[in-house]
Amino acid sequence: MNIIMFGPPGAGKGTQAKRLEEALGAKQLSTGDMLRAELASGSEMGKALKEIMDAGQLVPDDVMVKLIQYAMESPDCAKGVILDGFPRTVPQAEALDDMLKASGKKIDHVLVLEVDDSILLSRIQKRAAETGGARSDDNADTLKKRLDVYHSQTAPILPYYEQQNLLRRIDGMAEMDDVTAEIHKAIGNKQAA
Ligand code: ADP
Repeated sequence: MNIIMFGPPGAGKGTQAKRLEEALGAKQLSTGDMLRAELASGSEMGKALKEIMDAGQLVPDDVMVKLIQYAMESPDCAKGVILDGFPRTVPQAEALDDMLKASGKKIDHVLVLEVDDSILLSRIQKRAAETGGARSDDNADTLKKRLDVYHSQTAPILPYYEQQNLLRRIDGMAEMDDVTAEIHKAIGNKQAA
């Protein structure tokens, strides 16, 4: 099963994607985690990425498309993928379509974790406190920019999936376990729901 997870920063995509990975045996591909691993390596590429990410901007589409294409070729992805953080722009969504078509695959569900902007700041601040500020983009200024980018560049992809009847809207403000249950219901996974 191939799933895309959407939601603003702090919506809980990573947590839910990990749970789905375990439940379905599909591979979670978190572009944010992949980019942070590159940052941590201290490479020149990592330094350039850090500047972009700390500004709350998006990494160029061609870089992201190559990254995800390479990752999806891995044998780990044979049982399906849970895309967490990709696609984030219309050109990325188009590139994903081409990639899937070329390999005879398709997206089964597109989950949108809906959370009001007004509660995201406190979630991000909580995460920053809990992780000792592990993510340098978890601060009020960068969050504002990340949210603007989500609304202006990522949310416009949603109608594209809605037209294909793939969009499942999930209340991301419910308790974490209730969100998981709602997701299983939305994807028709009766055993776990
Ligand atoms: P969040 O959803 O909480 O903002 P992520 O961990 O998914 O965080 O992403 C962190 C940052 O990594 C983004 O703000 C962006 O700079 C970069 N990034 C991640 N995925 C993409 C993508 N598909 N396209 C461009 N930039 C990306």
